[in-house]
Amino acid sequence: MKFNWIICLFLLVAISCSEDSPVVEPQAVYDVAPEFESYVQEFIAEGAKRGETIDFSDSGLSIKFSEAPLNTANGRCFLGRHQIEIDKEDWFSFSALFRSYLLFHELGHCELDRLHKNDQFSDGSWKSILKGDPFAGEDLRKPVPYFGFRKDYYIDELFNSSISDPEWADVSFNYTEEFLKEEVRIVEPTTSRLNERFQNVTDDYELELTFDLMDERGTWTTMEWGATGVNYYIQMIPDWGYYIGVRDSGMNNILHYRRDLDSANGRLIDKITIRQSEGFEQVFVNEEFIFHLDQQSQLDYVSISALIGDQIVPNFNINKLTVSTLK
Ligand SMILES: [Zn+2]
Repeated sequence: MKFNWIICLFLLVAISCSEDSPVVEPQAVYDVAPEFESYVQEFIAEGAKRGETIDFSDSGLSIKFSEAPLNTANGRCFLGRHQIEIDKEDWFSFSALFRSYLLFHELGHCELDRLHKNDQFSDGSWKSILKGDPFAGEDLRKPVPYFGFRKDYYIDELFNSSISDPEWADVSFNYTEEFLKEEVRIVEPTTSRLNERFQNVTDDYELELTFDLMDERGTWTTMEWGATGVNYYIQMIPDWGYYIGVRDSGMNNILHYRRDLDSANGRLIDKITIRQSEGFEQVFVNEEFIFHLDQQSQLDYVSISALIGDQIVPNFNINKLTVSTLK
């Protein structure tokens, strides 16, 4: 029996994919645990939209929780066997979005016979949800932005690896663009944390937050903004970098990673600007365009705090929050 292992890592967790090529008679048994069934049906439906008939009646399909923890992995696929195992503890810690990504990745191996693809666009985004081991350096930390307007592209690419590059992979917005602004609120807090609530901010808006990221700035410094229930966040981690993500129903989904926490535009990060314009949430750090996301339905709140464990860092210094609507 021959074993070829492909270990694939993403986010802070890993997917391990086992490629195994035994000579076995295919068994057309469909045995998918109920936790995974809706995602398999979603995969079948997404294939059908793209002219692919996915039918496991010939090959069978087995998806179950692994008997033992997978340790460095959250799932694995035995190529050629239509057999997938998922780490149970990891599964229940994932959002619905990430569960779909995990199973689509594994079904990409097991049903579509695809291997890992680690190409990146010029903006550094992965070209495929089949990104996987081997990685080097900070690529380990870089997530696939499998969300919002990017998600359709990733599913297209899964079923058609020769698809052309999407428009979003080569977009930039200009911080210095002029807008007519109407001030909603200016806050110059004297506290080390901020949680500002808003009402009826449904127009395009800009929020700009300035702060001092000192050395003792805690384990996590997290800024959140957007609508209650589904909001975006930037999480800054000393000696690591920062993540941009979406929090949905209390679950974090990391969408973007940057290493350069301690320098942006030639200085320590001290300013984050979120501008909702042209249908997007545009994220600028120290006036540099970093990333864009689907626009929020409304702005209900902005918060920022630095934590060590679950303790607020008392001397984190927030200077000013300015929120305006854009005309
Ligand atoms: Zn894989």
